[in-house]
Amino acid sequence: MDLLNTLVDKGLRRELPTREEALAVLATSDDELLDVVAAAGKVRRQWFGRRVKLNYLVNLKSGLCPEDCSYCSQRLGSKAEILKYTWLKPDDASKAAAAGVAGGAKRVCLVASGRGPTDRDVDRVSETISAIKEQNEGIEVCACLGLLSEGQADRLHAAGADAYNHNLNTSEATYGDICTTHDFSDRVSTVQQAQAAGMSACSGLIAGMGESDADLVDVVFALRELDPDSVPVNFLIPFEGTPLGKEWNLTPQRALRILAMVRFVCPDIEVRLAGGREVHLRSLQPLALHLVNSIFLGDYLTSEGQAGKDDLAMIADAGFEVEGTDTTTLPEHRRPGCGGADTAESGCAESGCASGDKAPAATIPAPPEETRRDLVSVRRRGAGTELPPNA
Ligand code: SF4
Repeated sequence: MDLLNTLVDKGLRRELPTREEALAVLATSDDELLDVVAAAGKVRRQWFGRRVKLNYLVNLKSGLCPEDCSYCSQRLGSKAEILKYTWLKPDDASKAAAAGVAGGAKRVCLVASGRGPTDRDVDRVSETISAIKEQNEGIEVCACLGLLSEGQADRLHAAGADAYNHNLNTSEATYGDICTTHDFSDRVSTVQQAQAAGMSACSGLIAGMGESDADLVDVVFALRELDPDSVPVNFLIPFEGTPLGKEWNLTPQRALRILAMVRFVCPDIEVRLAGGREVHLRSLQPLALHLVNSIFLGDYLTSEGQAGKDDLAMIADAGFEVEGTDTTTLPEHRRPGCGGADTAESGCAESGCASGDKAPAATIPAPPEETRRDLVSVRRRGAGTELPPNA
């Protein structure tokens, strides 16, 4: 296909595809799917080889959020029967993180529900970061605490946070359909504050909320413009008790097309397969490893993932290898001191917190997807419980 040859050439040159090309990837047929995966896989291997970075989520504070993100099980008014608890003590958070590190994770993602942290919360998280870094040499720590106020990004960076996550989630045009308590520009501003403070920015999206192909391309292009170092791609986990609990819009094939599109638009950026992979990719998860270079190990914030040992077996069986702490994830040209994240043209979802009003209908309707409530399991182990974590 001319389209795929063009996209591979552009990806190898770190050149941005056009919007039309990105839309065309989403419109490919099931007959073309393996060609799409193979093409995006070439771009993935050029910049990241066969390495897979493992990330481990620790939910520091779960549920009872005053915000109304309609995809989220922790939102205001959520009836989802998730674990609810307030801030974990630094030692308990560090123990939870250690389980992920022992399982092969090189980044720990500290996440808390809420609109954003108070200064006291930043103190608590700073203590937690110190505890984790003391006990786990070489581990990257990413904080995900919601919207930041002035000075908080600097304080987190000074406390040792290597990265900050705040997802854009969906296009600016449809943001008001998924949340009314903050807006798209608030989210952009927080990502920019994290970057200005010297932290590595992590920002991604949630697919499957009823958005159109144009919305998906819009949010991925908006992310590319923000130039984060990592882009988590979540697939909506439709929690019963949330406004989007009946949105089953994705097939495994569509999920793969979305990941391929993100890879072509973000060729040399860490693309992370995030919440919802087990639910929506199901037995096609290994194919996604040809597109992404990063996944979460084990469980998500409020839902359970597949067993950590099965994640590791999947990676090995598919011919990939877990990236060690002695390897830098990003290609050399994107590392600090190498001219930054230039490109050839010179240029709280379940980062796990993946939930109102229904989002607008897709312009190209996705094939009807069977409701698979059996695949959504509320997390009952790990942080905030007496049971050992999954890692
Ligand atoms: S995504 Fe974050 S801010 Fe939104 S409802 Fe969930 S926990 Fe609250």
